Amino acid sequence: MQRVSIAVQGPFNGALTYLHESVLAPGIRCEVSLGPRTVIGISVNEPPDEQLDLAKLKPIKRVLDDKPILSEDILTISVWMSRYYLHEFSSPFFLALPKLLRTGKSAELKKTRWVSLTTQGQHIDTTQLARSVKQQAVMVVMQKQRKATQSHLNGLGFNTALVAALEKKQLLTTSEEVNLEPIKPTGELFEAALQLTGEQLQALEHINMDQYSPCLLEGVTGSGKTEVYLQAIEKCLKEGKRALVLVPEIGLTPQTLSRFQKRFQDDTVALHSGMTDNARHQAWVKASLGQAAIIIGTRSSILTPIPNLGLIVVDEEHDGSYKQQDTLRYHARDIALKRAHALNIPIILGSATPSLESLHNASIGRFAHLLLEQRANGSSLPPIETIDMRKQKHQAGFSERLALRVQMHLDEGNQVILFLNRRGYAPNWFCKTCGWIADCTFCDAHMTHHRAQRTNICHHCGHREAPPRQCPNCHETTLEAMGTGTERAEETIAQLFPGTPIIRFDRDIASTRIKMEQQLKLTEQDGPAIIIGTQMLAKGHHFERVTLVGIWDIDGGLFSADLRARERMGQLLTQVAGRSGRGERRGEVLVQTWYPDNPVFEPLLKHDYRSFAVSLLEDRKRSQLPPFGFLAVIRCDSAFANLAENRLQEMAHYLLDTKKVRVLGPLPALLSRRAGKHRYMLLVQCQKRSHLHEVLTPLHRHYPRDAKQVSWHIDIDPSDLA
Ligand code: ADP
Ligand code: ZN
Ligand code: ZN
Repeated sequence: MQRVSIAVQGPFNGALTYLHESVLAPGIRCEVSLGPRTVIGISVNEPPDEQLDLAKLKPIKRVLDDKPILSEDILTISVWMSRYYLHEFSSPFFLALPKLLRTGKSAELKKTRWVSLTTQGQHIDTTQLARSVKQQAVMVVMQKQRKATQSHLNGLGFNTALVAALEKKQLLTTSEEVNLEPIKPTGELFEAALQLTGEQLQALEHINMDQYSPCLLEGVTGSGKTEVYLQAIEKCLKEGKRALVLVPEIGLTPQTLSRFQKRFQDDTVALHSGMTDNARHQAWVKASLGQAAIIIGTRSSILTPIPNLGLIVVDEEHDGSYKQQDTLRYHARDIALKRAHALNIPIILGSATPSLESLHNASIGRFAHLLLEQRANGSSLPPIETIDMRKQKHQAGFSERLALRVQMHLDEGNQVILFLNRRGYAPNWFCKTCGWIADCTFCDAHMTHHRAQRTNICHHCGHREAPPRQCPNCHETTLEAMGTGTERAEETIAQLFPGTPIIRFDRDIASTRIKMEQQLKLTEQDGPAIIIGTQMLAKGHHFERVTLVGIWDIDGGLFSADLRARERMGQLLTQVAGRSGRGERRGEVLVQTWYPDNPVFEPLLKHDYRSFAVSLLEDRKRSQLPPFGFLAVIRCDSAFANLAENRLQEMAHYLLDTKKVRVLGPLPALLSRRAGKHRYMLLVQCQKRSHLHEVLTPLHRHYPRDAKQVSWHIDIDPSDLA
């Protein structure tokens, strides 16, 4: 019997050792017993425990795969992730698998419906089919492809009925087959590539396709970043390699997918959380067998095994959805970089508003910095102006001036976007008359208003104060919490613009991909309309007929105590502004603010995101925050506030004793109570990444994780402090 290492789900910091009649290759699933239960495990490439008494070891009950289903690069990166993010050892391995495989289902592909060309079909002159444009189109495709899956054809807009009609004419045949063979990418196109602009061409030529070549593609909204991705992918496929494209959680619309499918003859598969377990399983298996040339997916698809991967693209690399906010708190962009490095392949990070981390990496030469400064279709970026709310009459924060402009654009038959920043937590406590805002007595920071507790709390030092009822500055009693939600906004707009269609985008309305699609369809109808929404609107959608973007509320981002609030505000403002005037009609952008003189706005109003980012980077440097230092947050929840606080206090003492890190806290979390739990946090900062792990690894191992009364976790490289 051999000792083998198996990753088993549970609070273990390493693999468990079992016995098997032979050595087991890493990446194979098996059933093992864990206490009284039988669970799924995955063989891993870790040394088994040689100390344990043979008699105490249990044999593997059943091996589920005859070949590894996780590739070597995924296994290596998974081990790294569990150590780096200080989480249960097995988490990344299981994260890499779709649900059905995690629960033990066989990794086989279902039968696929294939469509093939008949001999007659091969020789037919397709112009004979000109009476049916669609039939002609499908035959043109099939004469190139010879054989294609029905789902691939569906993606191109050719449904089964159409295929059936051609089958009747004996031009096509169909069959149900299981195909386990990889398909070699060709890079053949359906639709010719666009002639690149000079900037695009320069960017493309800079990407070294033969080695690890991390590139930050910074291009203004509409500058044609996607076209650069497409042509880089074409090069990759032409070398017989595959490409992985990561998109933000809600960025993967059927339009995005069809843009790839319309261009490439090679198969594309999508992987995202909106798919059924079965569909996801099938797509994953196809990808891992090498039957797709392009894999487009959201966050967790970064761990999909893909044979002969030759390029990774991370679109909208700054997007918050790349960071997982629970269990294993990994950042998919960082994993993508790690994977590209390990495989020695190029990686493109694209954004109009890159993260500070990536800009920093570009500025110190770690990434190539590729710039697209012009919109590809020649349209110009819209002028941005502020509206000084202190001088405006308004209804629920919607000013008269903005109302007038909205009316003008509607009268011209155009569409208007109204954007509300719903990000942020408890809003600030401020004076409507003079703009005064409650500050902490002990810190250079604004207090955060906690509605539930009717208290203002400083998130830097923990100082608490009752919110004043009278303004200390102008003595008016016009104090309130800042902010209007989309629902209240819709109500207000319906009153102000009766009869105008209102299309709302937020997590309540567009909660699923299908609902999102429905809302997007509504925007394609003719005539004036008002689109109201949250940051969902900022993600890559192309609204052809929007000429005015009104930013209802962005001030929250100015004052939130959150690490990245300002950065996000600038990104949102720039991205949302970029939705205006993308079509033929010229656009404009109006930003309502109580702080028009805040210097933060200045570069943003000139579409100068880079200067904005540079000044934020200077702030980060001064406070030694990422990317100039390393940060972890330890969060602790308990139904009893003192238990959570005490636990963190204990950890703080230990950490301070190491003398390797700076510790701040315990502080109440920005969202200090959630689901009846009190939440506290501890910030751990240091100058050397290795120090962070030196001190946190023992802590991670020492404290129990599943205690009933106090739960806690470590968040390495946190994206926010919520
Ligand atoms: P981004 O991803 O940077 O926001 P897109 O790739 O969506 O920009 O391009 C914006 C628009 O410009 C699209 O309609 C696209 O078809 C068009 N476009 C991109 N590159 C070119 C080009 N080289 N020539 C003409 N049009 C282009
Ligand atoms: Zn304070
Ligand atoms: Zn006042």
